[in-house]
Amino acid sequence: MADKSLSAEEAKFLLSTRAKGKGGPPTEPRTLAVWFKLDHVLWDDGCSNPNCVDNTRPRSDPGRRIVIKLDGEYVCRECFLHGWLSNATTQG
Ligand SMILES: [Zn+2]
Repeated sequence: MADKSLSAEEAKFLLSTRAKGKGGPPTEPRTLAVWFKLDHVLWDDGCSNPNCVDNTRPRSDPGRRIVIKLDGEYVCRECFLHGWLSNATTQG
């Protein structure tokens, strides 16, 4: 399995590229390309998903603290890619 941890450089990149679209960027489909366009925040408590796979990572891991806000919850990259809180039950 590939290591999907964020490097420090990736983290910096994420935090420096804020989404500028009106009404917010789309959160679907759940791909990395879409994730990278979202507005990331550093959140010390990490992902809101109680079943988050990222919660096994140490708090010092920068990737764990980079989340997006979705429906009032904080969603990490792993959960985003896994479709947590996805409302895309219908496509198009
Ligand atoms: Zn998560």
